[in-house]
Amino acid sequence: MSGKLQTVRGTRDLLPEDNLVFRFVEESAYQKAKLYGYGEIETPIFEFSDVFHRTLGETSDVVSKETYDFTDRGGESLTLRPEGTAGVARSFISEGMSQLLPLKFYYSGPMFRYERPQKGRYRQFFQLGAECLGYDTPLADVECIAMAWDLLKQIGISAECVLEINTLGDAESRAAYRDALVAYFKSHESELSADSKTRLEKNPLRILDSKDEGDKKLNANAPKFETYLNENSKNFFKKVLAGIEKLGIPYKLNPLLVRGLDYYCHTVFEFTTSKLGAQGTVLAGGRYDGLVETMGGPKTPAVGWAAGIDRLADLTPKELAVSKEVLIAIIGADEAGDEESVKLAHEIRSRGLKAENFLSGKMGKKMQKANNKGAHYALILGGNEVTNNTVTVKNFQSGEQTTVSRSEIATFDFKI
Ligand code: ATP
Ligand code: MG
Repeated sequence: MSGKLQTVRGTRDLLPEDNLVFRFVEESAYQKAKLYGYGEIETPIFEFSDVFHRTLGETSDVVSKETYDFTDRGGESLTLRPEGTAGVARSFISEGMSQLLPLKFYYSGPMFRYERPQKGRYRQFFQLGAECLGYDTPLADVECIAMAWDLLKQIGISAECVLEINTLGDAESRAAYRDALVAYFKSHESELSADSKTRLEKNPLRILDSKDEGDKKLNANAPKFETYLNENSKNFFKKVLAGIEKLGIPYKLNPLLVRGLDYYCHTVFEFTTSKLGAQGTVLAGGRYDGLVETMGGPKTPAVGWAAGIDRLADLTPKELAVSKEVLIAIIGADEAGDEESVKLAHEIRSRGLKAENFLSGKMGKKMQKANNKGAHYALILGGNEVTNNTVTVKNFQSGEQTTVSRSEIATFDFKI
């Protein structure tokens, strides 16, 4: 076999104990999505490159440095999806769903970005997200944020997270602010990082999102968006804030929050934590009224968010994710017992209970393995039991051991 026998840089295997938590996060999100009236959508993992390149912005970090682009055997330019929103918007247009508005979509799946891998930052990572299309009211932003907050509560991490929020205003406000920013950064051009010099020409707002230390210093004294917001933008934001206050969701205004992608307007927000080191953003989103139109669809207001499952799972208390079902170990004490044990396990599972066979090793070892696995009961079968049609029930929790008839097992009350 050629090539190294290991995962590609920035990718990893998720083993059963990892997936236990991932599943818990995803199931919690799916459950919340259903409560909020969101339907699940699954778009392809790769799309025509234009779907992402044209919509996320050529100067965004994602498109300029992070996409996995390739030409397939038929010569098509394709891109592995780096995020979910563009695919959902593409689907909304290509499936002709505009007559069905408002529409609410939930999704979950792998995303791909060529980034510098580190803890909480991978080249294949997982996102779940929500997109609400068709509402131009700030109340939709509020509901969207509330759903995110409910999810963080459900998975036990809301106390660790802060909602940071800002507004990018409407197009008119953004144009005025853009001019002010260009003027400010032009007068400090020599101090800007190379990346930000390029951004200055193409998308100066993005400089505010820079992680470069020099840029950060300049950003601290940059003109504030607040000064350039028109009445419409101010009112919109006021209503968003009033709505989240009404729901008792704590938040922090962050005037430097601009988000990495081109399509945002009005509300932008992030839930951040100090518990994950540098990769502190667990969930991020905002309003993107212009996106669908930019892609060639009808003008469609929209708001949504995406969360990094890898990061959410890192924060989630493991005990919330482990299953709280009773586990019954079925153990043969000898060959006759082993032979019967598979059938007994089968019967137990047909009652909807978790049963596991332990098929190798001596009796003592099997019991020990079952105990280590967290079994609550062991059902022991030996030649005697098989002949007498009985089962020995050991309760690992109390240490008690009793012998019951095989027919009683069918209704035995196993409990934790
Ligand atoms: P960052 O500033 O951390 O690069 P971003 O703005 O690029 O984040 P978004 O595009 O908003 O991230 O994606 C939403 C969420 O997806 C992030 O808040 C984060 O939790 C997660 N995420 C983004 N990129 C990665 C990655 N490479 N590995 C793991 N999770 C990621
Ligand atoms: Mg990024």
